[in-house]
Amino acid sequence: MSERTAQQKIALVTGANKGIGRAAAGQLAARGMTVLVGARDPRRGEEAAAALRAAGGDAHALTLDVTDHTTARAAAQRIRERFGRLDVLVNNAGVTGSGQVSPQDAHDQVPSSVDLNMVREVFETNVFGVIAVTNAVLPLLRRSPAPRIVNVSSHAASLALTGDPDGPFAALLPSAAYTPSKAALSALTVQYANELRKDGVLVNAAAPGFVATDSNDHTGHLTPAQGAAVVVRLATLDAGGPTGGFFGEEGPVPW
Ligand code: NAP
Repeated sequence: MSERTAQQKIALVTGANKGIGRAAAGQLAARGMTVLVGARDPRRGEEAAAALRAAGGDAHALTLDVTDHTTARAAAQRIRERFGRLDVLVNNAGVTGSGQVSPQDAHDQVPSSVDLNMVREVFETNVFGVIAVTNAVLPLLRRSPAPRIVNVSSHAASLALTGDPDGPFAALLPSAAYTPSKAALSALTVQYANELRKDGVLVNAAAPGFVATDSNDHTGHLTPAQGAAVVVRLATLDAGGPTGGFFGEEGPVPW
């Protein structure tokens, strides 16, 4: 493991044991950050952290189920004791609600027949979990000289894109679970940015694109590393960078 310096930034990525979160964790570690690999399963978290350490990164597993507020508070306590502050929070953990089916192929998310319990479960992770984790670690982010929060959203969160009957999303199945959860995440991003602007905390949402991961049975056309690039860019913004924005690799995404 590399030796840590007092200036070395500390980053927490939720759901970092696989997929886009794991790739983002790897890229942040490659930039010299100490990376806390948030994972709800301690064994999967340790395996991912060990792989990042084997690649030369400074990575540590941190047990964190974003739907379990007790683990969020315990994770914040561990960060406080071990590092004293947090510089970067990537709220990446997310579920589609439909198992290993692309959100666009999820017949069970069609609004008129959706199971309300599934909607609740998706919001529990993708929306309420973000509030729980963000608020648990916010006092530690406030101790950073350059705090950054990145909420991993989706192009599907864009009302402008999904509401256009002639637009690129017109062919997709309507969704009452995943898509609205990411739209709510957009609203949360703006509200946190508004509250924290005066404190210098930059809060932005990232749309990684269609990435081949377990969440879509690897049907995406981008690699996790490609999807993670915009996440890492927003996690490493210079002072004076944007806040309250929504970005993909191609640039700003319309709300
Ligand atoms: P993935 O490979 O399925 O990874 C999801 C990660 O979230 C896993 O580490 C999973 O942990 C974790 N997770 C789920 N529920 C959790 C919870 N309650 N507490 C902690 N961790 C939890 O999917 P992915 O494609 O990389 O997705 C990552 C993020 O990108 C999600 O927010 C997703 O909505 C977003 N996104 C993905 C795409 C895409 O095309 N793939 C497009 C747009 C947005 P386990 O291993 O324990 O299940």
